[in-house]
Amino acid sequence: MQPDPHILTSETRLVIFDLDGTLYAKSNMVWHMMFAAPSDWRMMWAERKTRKQLRGKWLENEIAFYQTYFQIMATYCSRTPEQAREWYWNKYMPLMVNVIRKYYKPLEWLLPFIAKCKQRRIRLVILSDYGHALEKLEALGINKSLFDWVVSAPELGGLKPASQLITLITNHMGVTPSQCLVIGDREDTDGQLAQTAGAAFYLV
Ligand SMILES: [Mg+2]
Repeated sequence: MQPDPHILTSETRLVIFDLDGTLYAKSNMVWHMMFAAPSDWRMMWAERKTRKQLRGKWLENEIAFYQTYFQIMATYCSRTPEQAREWYWNKYMPLMVNVIRKYYKPLEWLLPFIAKCKQRRIRLVILSDYGHALEKLEALGINKSLFDWVVSAPELGGLKPASQLITLITNHMGVTPSQCLVIGDREDTDGQLAQTAGAAFYLV
């Protein structure tokens, strides 16, 4: 479902977009990834399980977050945390970017909606639970300069729907949560993030 311009109210000063599944429809992503790297299925499974386990957790900063993340992931794939880290950054994330470049494009509503926001001087942030957000935008052919801030949740210290994420972002952008609209494809992460902070939410 595409956002209706009416979801922007006279109060709206900031829109926070999720990335995967929101800027592009990520259907079949898992299959594309498995097909591209079939020998990595166990690592991918371990990564998903770790992500699920840390959903909504707040670890204070990026270093602490990834330390915990790779420690947990290592237990699910019989590797060391260093090997898990190496795989994630040097294989998994570049693979995801390549799959996006090959199979996906931005949803049609996105650029007109961004133009509408710009007309109203509404500021725009991308908040992704994954890393490589800038590389993903580039793979989708979306100009990163359309956004005031492109940031990943782990960079700030946790995963959605940790409420600290909204606090940090709204403070940084100089707005209140009630002036903020979150647009995402998941009720349990993007939706809850907005709800706990008192921000508006639109489900794509
Ligand atoms: Mg998403």
